[in-house]
Amino acid sequence: MSFASSPLERIGVFTSGGDAPGMNAAVRAVVRTCLYYQKQSVGIFRGYDGMIAGDIKDLSSRSVSNIIQRGGTILKSARSLEFKTKEGRRQAYENLKSAGVDALVAIGGDGTFRGATLFSSEYDIPVVGIPGTIDNDLNGTDYTIGYDTAVNTAAQAIDKVRDTASSHNRLFFIEVMGRDSGQIALRASIAAGAEATMIPEQPMDIDELVRILESGAERKKSSSLVVVAEGGKPGRSIDIAREVNERFSYYDTKVTILGHLLRGGSPTVADRVLASRLGVAAVEGLLNNISGQMVGIVNNQIKFTPFGQATTQHDELEKEMLRIATILSV
Ligand code: ADP
Repeated sequence: MSFASSPLERIGVFTSGGDAPGMNAAVRAVVRTCLYYQKQSVGIFRGYDGMIAGDIKDLSSRSVSNIIQRGGTILKSARSLEFKTKEGRRQAYENLKSAGVDALVAIGGDGTFRGATLFSSEYDIPVVGIPGTIDNDLNGTDYTIGYDTAVNTAAQAIDKVRDTASSHNRLFFIEVMGRDSGQIALRASIAAGAEATMIPEQPMDIDELVRILESGAERKKSSSLVVVAEGGKPGRSIDIAREVNERFSYYDTKVTILGHLLRGGSPTVADRVLASRLGVAAVEGLLNNISGQMVGIVNNQIKFTPFGQATTQHDELEKEMLRIATILSV
């Protein structure tokens, strides 16, 4: 790739929507890659809200020192209602122009990219997206930044619940985040050897769950763990546990909701390296005239995917992972 002809001088970077561990590593990579190509990086704080409020500052190499290992995002994040209005986006554009920002790197999930698509269709400002979400629910990348860390946190928590569950002959429902996606639930479930996994993509009815639990009880399992993806409705596991408890009394039933625990913590090596690779590729993409696309890694290769395609759900992995979880949970 040759970047000599790129007229871009000031590249804005922001994190938006749900925060994810590894976002800092991506910000760092964007800032350092800009420096490498003698471009100025500009931090936009609090996502689209900060863009509208003009919360914009130049970044230096030192602004991103000592953050690769830190969870959360130094740029802060937000969910912005105002950005969904034409007036909000107009204000955001004016602030970017007065700060001299001539291209954007958006680090976030599908909502962030939907906002970016609309923004770049209304205003002439190139945008490249970096997938930063614990949900791993974007097309065009094998993994999103934060997913590996979230799954590791979930698996470690489930291991701990297993210790207490098997000491008391208990059935535990462990609820994990995953708005419309069972990806965290499935992978954590396989890693921690759970007995069943309930995901929004392939709903399991209570009869089937009771049958699985009965069969485990017949084989004298000392505990049973069911991992439940919240599926956009936190607390879903409480309703499921209540229903199961009414029909099946072999185990004492408990519920643990992991919730926001999964968003925090130091990113794993996999997330740090993914974020570093994607940060470099995002800046190089912008300098190479790419816009309106998300950068991802597919089969270990950098790949750009138009935002419209990136935000449609992928199911193939789900089915295969579910098949593996089912085979191994007997
Ligand atoms: P994520 O990026 O993690 O999926 P959200 O769904 O909250 O998080 O989206 C982040 C932000 O993107 C929203 O708060 C909003 O400001 C902006 N956004 C999302 N969808 C749209 C849209 N259709 N039009 C304009 N902005 C949007």
